[in-house]
Amino acid sequence: VNFGDAVVSPEEKTRRVGQVFSSVARRYDVMNDLMSGGMHRLWKDRFVNRVKPRTGEHVLDMAGGTGDIAFRMAKRGAQVTVSDINADMLAVGMERARERGLEGLSWKQENAESLSFGDAQFDAYTIAFGIRNVTDIPAALRQAHRVLRHGGRFFCLEFSTSDWPGFAEIYELYADKMIPRIGKAVARDEDSYRYLVESIRRFPKPEAFKRMIGEAGFAQTGYETIFGGLVCIHSGWKI
Ligand code: SAM
Repeated sequence: VNFGDAVVSPEEKTRRVGQVFSSVARRYDVMNDLMSGGMHRLWKDRFVNRVKPRTGEHVLDMAGGTGDIAFRMAKRGAQVTVSDINADMLAVGMERARERGLEGLSWKQENAESLSFGDAQFDAYTIAFGIRNVTDIPAALRQAHRVLRHGGRFFCLEFSTSDWPGFAEIYELYADKMIPRIGKAVARDEDSYRYLVESIRRFPKPEAFKRMIGEAGFAQTGYETIFGGLVCIHSGWKI
C-alpha cells in the first residue's frame, strides 16, 4: 500500500499514520485553522447539517480525533461515541470536551477496520477527514455497515479535487509548497504534512468512492461537493 510516495506493508502504513497523528495531536486544531483559513469549521458545520443528528440518537463518530464533529452533534442532543485509533488524538479531544463542559460523549480507541461494537448499534456513522488515512478502506466501510441499524445513515466528509478552472493549479501549489512549510514552522513536522497532502492526492475520486460505499452494502449512495469539489460529503443508507 502507499504511504505518501513510499510503498509499504499495510501494518507499516497503519504504524506510520499513527506516528503522524501522535506527532500533530497537540497542534492539530490550530493547524486546521491555519491551513484552511478557518474554513474547515464551515465544512464541518455543513457536514453536521447534512447528518441532522436528533436528540437521543446514537452516533458513532469514527476517526473522531479531537472531537470537532462529535461536539457539534452532541450540542444537538445526540449521544456520540467518539472513536479513533490514536490515543493521543483522543486525549486532546477529551480534554477539550472537559473544558467546554460537553455532555453526551463517550470515547473509545478503535481501529475503523475492525470495530469491537456489536451489530446494528448506531443510528448514524460519521467519518470526517478520516477515511483516507485508513489502510483497508473497504474493510472500514463494511464495518460501518455492520454497526449501523437498518435505516441507519452513513456520512463521510473528505477532501477531493476541485474542478473550478484554475483552482486545481493554485491548490497544487499551496498544497505542495505551503502546507509542508506551515507544518514545519508551526508543528515542527514537515513530513507529516507532506504525507497529509499526498494522501489527499491519492484518495479515490468521488464517483469511485461512491461505488466503494455501494460495494460495502449501502443503498441510495450519493455525494455533494463543497467549495468547487475541494471537499466532498458522501452518504448512504443501510436498508
Ligand atoms: N474527524 C476529526 C476532524 O475532522 O477534525 C479528525 C480527523 S484527522 C485528519 C484523522 C484521524 O483519523 C486521526 O485522528 C487518526 O488517528 C484517525 N485514523 C487514522 N486511521 C484510523 C483507523 N484505521 N481507525 C480509526 N481512526 C483512524
